[in-house]
Amino acid sequence: QNSMKTFENYESQVRSYSRSFPTVFNKAKGSKMWDIEGKEYIDFFAGAGALNYGHNNESMKQKIMDYIQEDGISHSLDMGTVARANFLERFNDVILKPRNLDYKVMFPGPTGANTVESALKIARKVTGRDTIISFTNAFHGMTLGALSVTGDSFKRKGAGISLNNTVAMPYDNYFGNNSSIEYLKRFLEDSGSGVGLPAAVILETVQGEGGINAASFEWLQEIEKLCRRYDILFIIDDVQAGCGRTGTFFSFEPARIKPDIICLSKSISGYGLPMALTLIKPEYDIWGPGEHNGTFRGNNMAFIAGAEALSYWETDEFAESIQEKANILQERFEKIVSDYPELKATARGRGLMRGIACGKGKEDYAVKICSKAFEKGLIMETAGPDDQVIKFLGALTIDKEELNKGLDILEEAFKEVVR
Ligand code: PMP
Repeated sequence: QNSMKTFENYESQVRSYSRSFPTVFNKAKGSKMWDIEGKEYIDFFAGAGALNYGHNNESMKQKIMDYIQEDGISHSLDMGTVARANFLERFNDVILKPRNLDYKVMFPGPTGANTVESALKIARKVTGRDTIISFTNAFHGMTLGALSVTGDSFKRKGAGISLNNTVAMPYDNYFGNNSSIEYLKRFLEDSGSGVGLPAAVILETVQGEGGINAASFEWLQEIEKLCRRYDILFIIDDVQAGCGRTGTFFSFEPARIKPDIICLSKSISGYGLPMALTLIKPEYDIWGPGEHNGTFRGNNMAFIAGAEALSYWETDEFAESIQEKANILQERFEKIVSDYPELKATARGRGLMRGIACGKGKEDYAVKICSKAFEKGLIMETAGPDDQVIKFLGALTIDKEELNKGLDILEEAFKEVVR
């Protein structure tokens, strides 16, 4: 039996989340995790949103085990396999067709950054333009293209070079009102602005890493209109906000917009297995074979789990249960905010993507509260430019009792840290 000490030696060798979660985990089920000393934690982090259906989801686990038992193909690059075909059939039948959506489906590589890279490349190739418009506090991934549209100066500096051909515009409500859309409009209309028309606009409907900033549906509709007026491709990065996180399978559904390209990853495999999808309007499917490839594009275990995950979306029940829990979360976050006026905090978000943002000058409270909550058995991360936002990203399958129990721990952490 390895001791905590032995593991700590290895952990110090890697740069890891151990800074926020200083233990060594050993087991997980649903919305619970256990460390090697048997301490139980409630998980409000869910693998950064890659585990929307909980850890070791029983039916997905069973499907994967059966598949392995039958010597199913595990890795197949871009080859056709039964597992992949089944996933695609389910994705079309359960997700695209009922929503009247027509997209080509591409497997761009295993991660969120891979789908963003593919989207940026396609938009540039289709339009023959260089510039991409992104937004303040956006997060799209750590590879160079994805980082170039990420609005985080600390992470951008990590690249060691300047990142070109992108313009960051103010996100919705950046000025505390809706003037950001006027800013973008003016920029596009003004041929003297020094920057030509962009190839694409890329955005998250709710910014996750950037601090749970939710764009209004009206703002999203205005952006879509501008994209149509100037023939700019509209890319929605639904890597974090998609797969049900905000209450509908695609985060943009209630805004009734139709992006040209959609980026999905994180919970698309449902089991935390690396997988990404780029959905492309058929007219923009312009790549020839081999123009974009990669070794790990055929994780069949991810296809098996991902096909099973879609069962949750066959009826409206799952979306309704997300909304019910979202209401509890919102209510309890608002209560915390009103209990601690000295933090000048706000509760924000959509669906089960929510946060409590501490006011200016109170940022370190968020980090301290999360650390205190961790000591008490709750896993939660911070987000936002100054880590000022305490962020909920728990599994969509969390039961109400676990949700409330985790929120009780969070309240205790507030009490001990703030008072
Ligand atoms: N886009 C968004 C909106 C994300 O939240 C993330 C990851 N947090 C990414 C892209 C990048 O995904 P990955 O870390 O899998 O490359």
